[in-house]
Amino acid sequence: MNCPVCGKEMKVGKVAYQPSAGLHFLPPGERLPHVLTKSGIEKRGGIALDGPNNLGLLESDGTLPAHICRSCRKIVIDY
Ligand SMILES: [Zn+2]
Repeated sequence: MNCPVCGKEMKVGKVAYQPSAGLHFLPPGERLPHVLTKSGIEKRGGIALDGPNNLGLLESDGTLPAHICRSCRKIVIDY
């Protein structure tokens, strides 16, 4: 998929959400860490979009497929 703003190819990834964990973009093959911190998300190559609000243990994956253009800071999410 190409970025709707700049036309460059977007990278595949996924958007992950958990009520207590917040909203995050993750690269392929990565998942939310069991103990959530912003640096833990970034260490996995992800972006903390909102939260985490609380530290918490995760029991399910809770992700959606997504494409990202880091130049334009755009994410397109499949649902
Ligand atoms: Zn772009």
